Amino acid sequence: MKIAITSGKGGTGKTTISTMLAYSLDNPQYIDCDAEEPNGHLFLKPKIEKTIPYTELVPQINEDICTFCGKCADACAYKALVVMGEPLKKTMFFDELCHSCGACAYVCPVEGALIEVPKRVGEIRVGKAGHIDFVMGLLDVGQASATQLIATLKREYMDDSKTVILDSPPGTSCTVVETIDGVDFVILVAEPTPFGLSDLKLSVELVRDMGLNFGIIVNKHEEDNGLIEDYAQQESIPILYRLPFSKDIAKSYSNGALPFEKYKNDFKGVIKQIEERI
Ligand code: SF4
Ligand code: SF4
Repeated sequence: MKIAITSGKGGTGKTTISTMLAYSLDNPQYIDCDAEEPNGHLFLKPKIEKTIPYTELVPQINEDICTFCGKCADACAYKALVVMGEPLKKTMFFDELCHSCGACAYVCPVEGALIEVPKRVGEIRVGKAGHIDFVMGLLDVGQASATQLIATLKREYMDDSKTVILDSPPGTSCTVVETIDGVDFVILVAEPTPFGLSDLKLSVELVRDMGLNFGIIVNKHEEDNGLIEDYAQQESIPILYRLPFSKDIAKSYSNGALPFEKYKNDFKGVIKQIEERI
Protein backbone atom coordinates (compact mmCIF):
# COMPACT_ATOMS: atom_id res chain seq x y z
CA MET A 1 0.00 0.00 0.00
CA LYS A 2 1.25 3.46 -0.90
CA ILE A 3 -0.01 6.51 0.99
CA ALA A 4 0.99 10.07 0.08
CA ILE A 5 0.67 12.91 2.57
CA THR A 6 0.39 16.40 1.16
CA SER A 7 -1.04 19.84 1.90
CA GLY A 8 -1.99 22.96 0.01
CA LYS A 9 0.77 24.97 1.67
CA GLY A 10 3.95 24.40 3.66
CA GLY A 11 4.00 24.39 7.46
CA THR A 12 0.64 22.67 8.02
CA GLY A 13 2.10 19.61 9.77
CA LYS A 14 2.54 17.30 6.78
CA THR A 15 5.82 15.87 8.06
CA THR A 16 4.45 15.54 11.61
CA ILE A 17 1.60 13.41 10.26
CA SER A 18 3.85 11.47 7.82
CA THR A 19 6.41 10.51 10.46
CA MET A 20 3.77 9.64 13.08
CA LEU A 21 2.02 7.47 10.52
CA ALA A 22 5.26 5.72 9.53
CA TYR A 23 6.10 5.10 13.21
CA SER A 24 2.71 3.46 13.84
CA LEU A 25 3.18 0.88 11.06
CA ASP A 26 4.70 -2.59 11.45
CA ASN A 27 6.53 -2.75 8.13
CA PRO A 28 6.98 0.82 6.85
CA GLN A 29 9.10 2.63 4.33
CA TYR A 30 9.19 6.41 4.67
CA ILE A 31 10.22 8.38 1.56
CA ASP A 32 10.80 12.10 1.94
CA CYS A 33 9.86 13.50 -1.49
CA ASP A 34 9.93 17.11 -0.25
CA ALA A 35 13.41 17.29 -1.77
CA GLU A 36 13.71 21.08 -1.74
CA GLU A 37 13.41 21.13 2.02
CA PRO A 38 13.20 17.62 3.50
CA ASN A 39 12.76 17.55 7.27
CA GLY A 40 11.48 14.06 8.14
CA HIS A 41 15.02 13.13 9.21
CA LEU A 42 14.90 15.75 11.97
CA PHE A 43 12.22 13.71 13.74
CA LEU A 44 12.99 10.13 12.66
CA LYS A 45 16.76 10.58 13.14
CA PRO A 46 17.76 7.81 10.72
CA LYS A 47 21.16 6.17 10.54
CA ILE A 48 22.16 6.90 6.94
CA GLU A 49 23.79 3.88 5.31
CA LYS A 50 24.22 5.16 1.75
CA THR A 51 24.39 8.57 0.06
CA ILE A 52 24.04 8.39 -3.70
CA PRO A 53 24.76 11.43 -5.91
CA TYR A 54 21.80 12.14 -8.17
CA THR A 55 22.42 13.37 -11.73
CA GLU A 56 20.19 14.28 -14.65
CA LEU A 57 21.06 14.33 -18.35
CA VAL A 58 21.31 17.73 -20.00
CA PRO A 59 22.26 18.61 -23.58
CA GLN A 60 25.73 19.66 -24.69
CA ILE A 61 26.05 21.05 -28.21
CA ASN A 62 29.18 20.74 -30.33
CA GLU A 63 29.05 23.96 -32.38
CA ASP A 64 31.81 22.66 -34.70
CA ILE A 65 29.40 20.18 -36.28
CA CYS A 66 25.99 21.72 -35.41
CA THR A 67 24.18 23.01 -38.52
CA PHE A 68 22.14 25.54 -36.48
CA CYS A 69 18.92 24.12 -37.91
CA GLY A 70 17.06 25.03 -34.69
CA LYS A 71 15.18 21.72 -34.40
CA CYS A 72 16.38 21.16 -30.81
CA ALA A 73 15.16 24.60 -29.71
CA ASP A 74 11.80 24.07 -31.43
CA ALA A 75 11.38 20.74 -29.61
CA CYS A 76 12.13 22.19 -26.18
CA ALA A 77 8.84 22.90 -24.41
CA TYR A 78 10.70 24.70 -21.61
CA LYS A 79 12.58 27.24 -23.79
CA ALA A 80 15.90 26.03 -22.38
CA LEU A 81 17.66 26.20 -25.78
CA VAL A 82 18.19 29.11 -28.17
CA VAL A 83 19.73 28.59 -31.61
CA MET A 84 20.90 31.56 -33.70
CA GLY A 85 21.58 30.77 -37.35
CA GLU A 86 23.51 32.81 -39.95
CA PRO A 87 25.38 35.07 -39.44
CA LEU A 88 25.80 34.54 -35.67
CA LYS A 89 25.90 30.72 -35.61
CA LYS A 90 25.52 30.42 -31.85
CA THR A 91 23.59 28.27 -29.42
CA MET A 92 22.65 29.05 -25.83
CA PHE A 93 21.56 26.62 -23.11
CA PHE A 94 19.77 27.73 -19.91
CA ASP A 95 20.27 24.76 -17.64
CA GLU A 96 17.97 26.06 -14.90
CA LEU A 97 15.04 25.77 -17.35
CA CYS A 98 15.95 22.27 -18.55
CA HIS A 99 13.71 19.38 -17.37
CA SER A 100 15.99 16.65 -18.80
CA CYS A 101 13.20 15.42 -21.04
CA GLY A 102 15.56 14.31 -23.84
CA ALA A 103 13.45 15.80 -26.66
CA CYS A 104 16.32 17.89 -28.05
CA ALA A 105 18.63 14.87 -28.34
CA TYR A 106 15.84 12.86 -29.94
CA VAL A 107 15.17 15.36 -32.75
CA CYS A 108 18.74 16.44 -33.56
CA PRO A 109 19.48 15.18 -37.09
CA VAL A 110 23.28 15.52 -36.92
CA GLU A 111 25.07 12.69 -35.17
CA GLY A 112 27.26 13.99 -32.34
CA ALA A 113 26.06 17.61 -32.61
CA LEU A 114 23.99 17.32 -29.42
CA ILE A 115 24.96 14.80 -26.79
CA GLU A 116 23.47 14.32 -23.32
CA VAL A 117 25.81 14.67 -20.37
CA PRO A 118 25.15 14.06 -16.65
CA LYS A 119 24.79 17.04 -14.35
CA ARG A 120 24.65 16.70 -10.55
CA VAL A 121 21.32 17.93 -9.20
CA GLY A 122 21.22 16.52 -5.67
CA GLU A 123 21.57 13.33 -3.70
CA ILE A 124 19.56 10.43 -2.33
CA ARG A 125 20.10 9.20 1.24
CA VAL A 126 19.06 5.73 2.33
CA GLY A 127 19.07 4.38 5.88
CA LYS A 128 17.13 3.02 8.84
CA ALA A 129 15.21 4.80 11.58
CA GLY A 130 14.46 2.00 14.06
CA HIS A 131 11.96 -0.28 12.29
CA ILE A 132 11.40 2.28 9.49
CA ASP A 133 13.21 2.03 6.14
CA PHE A 134 14.19 5.61 5.37
CA VAL A 135 14.75 7.26 1.97
CA MET A 136 15.21 10.95 1.32
CA GLY A 137 15.75 13.06 -1.79
CA LEU A 138 17.76 16.26 -1.37
CA LEU A 139 18.04 18.84 -4.13
CA ASP A 140 21.28 20.84 -4.29
CA VAL A 141 21.01 24.55 -3.49
CA GLY A 142 20.15 26.55 -6.61
CA GLN A 143 18.55 23.66 -8.53
CA ALA A 144 15.15 24.54 -9.89
CA SER A 145 13.05 21.38 -9.95
CA ALA A 146 12.83 18.15 -7.97
CA THR A 147 10.30 16.49 -10.29
CA GLN A 148 12.71 14.01 -11.91
CA LEU A 149 14.39 13.31 -8.57
CA ILE A 150 11.01 12.37 -7.07
CA ALA A 151 10.26 10.14 -10.09
CA THR A 152 13.59 8.38 -9.46
CA LEU A 153 12.85 7.92 -5.74
CA LYS A 154 9.55 6.25 -6.63
CA ARG A 155 10.87 4.20 -9.54
CA GLU A 156 14.14 2.95 -8.04
CA TYR A 157 13.79 3.10 -4.25
CA MET A 158 10.13 2.35 -3.44
CA ASP A 159 9.78 -1.08 -1.82
CA ASP A 160 6.49 -2.74 -2.83
CA SER A 161 6.75 -5.25 0.03
CA LYS A 162 6.33 -2.40 2.55
CA THR A 163 3.62 0.08 3.45
CA VAL A 164 5.10 3.16 1.82
CA ILE A 165 4.59 6.64 3.27
CA LEU A 166 5.40 9.34 0.70
CA ASP A 167 5.95 12.71 2.39
CA SER A 168 5.06 15.06 -0.49
CA PRO A 169 6.12 18.64 -1.15
CA PRO A 170 3.34 21.16 -0.40
CA GLY A 171 1.23 22.98 -3.01
CA THR A 172 -0.24 21.76 -6.26
CA SER A 173 2.73 21.95 -8.66
CA CYS A 174 4.52 19.27 -10.76
CA THR A 175 6.46 17.92 -7.76
CA VAL A 176 3.22 17.18 -5.90
CA VAL A 177 1.63 15.62 -8.99
CA GLU A 178 4.70 13.39 -9.42
CA THR A 179 4.62 12.32 -5.76
CA ILE A 180 0.92 11.45 -5.52
CA ASP A 181 0.56 9.94 -9.00
CA GLY A 182 -0.36 6.24 -8.76
CA VAL A 183 -0.64 6.01 -4.94
CA ASP A 184 -3.48 4.09 -3.27
CA PHE A 185 -4.53 6.93 -0.99
CA VAL A 186 -3.75 10.62 -0.41
CA ILE A 187 -3.99 12.29 2.99
CA LEU A 188 -4.54 16.05 2.81
CA VAL A 189 -3.32 17.78 5.95
CA ALA A 190 -5.10 21.04 6.77
CA GLU A 191 -5.16 23.56 9.58
CA PRO A 192 -8.51 25.09 10.58
CA THR A 193 -7.76 28.65 9.45
CA PRO A 194 -9.14 30.62 6.47
CA PHE A 195 -5.77 30.26 4.67
CA GLY A 196 -5.70 26.56 5.53
CA LEU A 197 -9.16 26.08 4.08
CA SER A 198 -8.34 28.02 0.92
CA ASP A 199 -5.22 25.88 0.27
CA LEU A 200 -7.10 22.69 1.12
CA LYS A 201 -9.64 23.51 -1.60
CA LEU A 202 -6.83 23.68 -4.19
CA SER A 203 -5.48 20.31 -3.06
CA VAL A 204 -8.95 18.77 -3.22
CA GLU A 205 -9.33 20.06 -6.79
CA LEU A 206 -5.99 18.45 -7.72
CA VAL A 207 -6.66 14.99 -6.22
CA ARG A 208 -10.14 14.95 -7.71
CA ASP A 209 -8.75 15.83 -11.16
CA MET A 210 -6.28 12.96 -10.79
CA GLY A 211 -9.05 10.56 -9.74
CA LEU A 212 -7.34 9.66 -6.45
CA ASN A 213 -8.87 8.28 -3.27
CA PHE A 214 -8.35 10.75 -0.43
CA GLY A 215 -9.26 12.00 3.03
CA ILE A 216 -8.38 14.83 5.40
CA ILE A 217 -6.40 15.00 8.63
CA VAL A 218 -6.98 18.21 10.58
CA ASN A 219 -3.85 19.43 12.34
CA LYS A 220 -4.10 21.82 15.32
CA HIS A 221 -7.72 20.86 15.81
CA GLU A 222 -9.79 22.84 18.31
CA GLU A 223 -13.20 21.61 19.43
CA ASP A 224 -14.89 24.98 18.80
CA ASN A 225 -13.47 25.50 15.30
CA GLY A 226 -15.50 23.76 12.60
CA LEU A 227 -14.01 25.48 9.53
CA ILE A 228 -12.56 22.34 7.95
CA GLU A 229 -15.31 20.08 9.34
CA ASP A 230 -18.08 22.13 7.66
CA TYR A 231 -16.27 22.11 4.30
CA ALA A 232 -15.54 18.38 4.51
CA GLN A 233 -19.18 17.66 5.27
CA GLN A 234 -20.39 19.82 2.36
CA GLU A 235 -18.00 18.04 -0.01
CA SER A 236 -18.53 14.54 1.46
CA ILE A 237 -14.81 14.14 2.23
CA PRO A 238 -13.92 11.87 5.15
CA ILE A 239 -11.99 13.35 8.06
CA LEU A 240 -9.65 10.56 9.13
CA TYR A 241 -8.24 12.15 12.26
CA ARG A 242 -7.97 15.36 14.26
CA LEU A 243 -4.55 16.02 15.81
CA PRO A 244 -5.22 18.40 18.70
CA PHE A 245 -3.85 21.92 19.01
CA SER A 246 -1.54 21.18 21.91
CA LYS A 247 1.34 22.92 23.61
CA ASP A 248 2.95 19.52 24.26
CA ILE A 249 3.08 18.65 20.54
CA ALA A 250 4.42 22.13 19.69
CA LYS A 251 7.14 21.80 22.35
CA SER A 252 8.11 18.29 21.19
CA TYR A 253 8.17 19.50 17.57
CA SER A 254 10.51 22.38 18.38
CA ASN A 255 12.80 19.93 20.21
CA GLY A 256 12.82 17.56 17.20
CA ALA A 257 11.24 14.76 19.23
CA LEU A 258 7.62 14.11 18.30
CA PRO A 259 5.42 12.12 20.73
CA PHE A 260 5.32 9.06 18.46
CA GLU A 261 4.46 6.52 21.16
CA LYS A 262 1.60 8.58 22.61
CA TYR A 263 -0.22 8.81 19.26
CA LYS A 264 0.75 5.40 17.87
CA ASN A 265 -2.66 3.79 18.38
CA ASP A 266 -4.49 6.79 16.93
CA PHE A 267 -2.44 6.51 13.73
CA LYS A 268 -2.96 2.75 13.60
CA GLY A 269 -6.67 3.70 13.54
CA VAL A 270 -6.01 6.03 10.57
CA ILE A 271 -4.35 3.18 8.64
CA LYS A 272 -7.32 0.92 9.38
CA GLN A 273 -9.72 3.53 7.97
CA ILE A 274 -7.58 3.87 4.84
CA GLU A 275 -7.49 0.09 4.35
CA GLU A 276 -11.28 0.03 4.51
CA ARG A 277 -11.50 2.75 1.87
CA ILE A 278 -9.21 1.31 -0.80
S1 SF4 B 1 19.15 20.12 -33.71
FE1 SF4 B 1 21.29 19.50 -33.65
S2 SF4 B 1 22.15 20.38 -35.49
FE2 SF4 B 1 20.19 21.40 -35.21
S3 SF4 B 1 20.69 23.25 -34.02
FE3 SF4 B 1 20.23 21.68 -32.54
S4 SF4 B 1 22.19 20.75 -32.04
FE4 SF4 B 1 22.48 21.90 -33.92
S1 SF4 C 1 16.38 18.00 -22.33
FE1 SF4 C 1 14.28 18.72 -22.73
S2 SF4 C 1 14.08 20.48 -21.40
FE2 SF4 C 1 16.26 20.08 -21.53
S3 SF4 C 1 16.95 21.38 -23.20
FE3 SF4 C 1 16.48 19.38 -24.08
S4 SF4 C 1 14.36 19.56 -24.81
FE4 SF4 C 1 14.74 21.26 -23.38
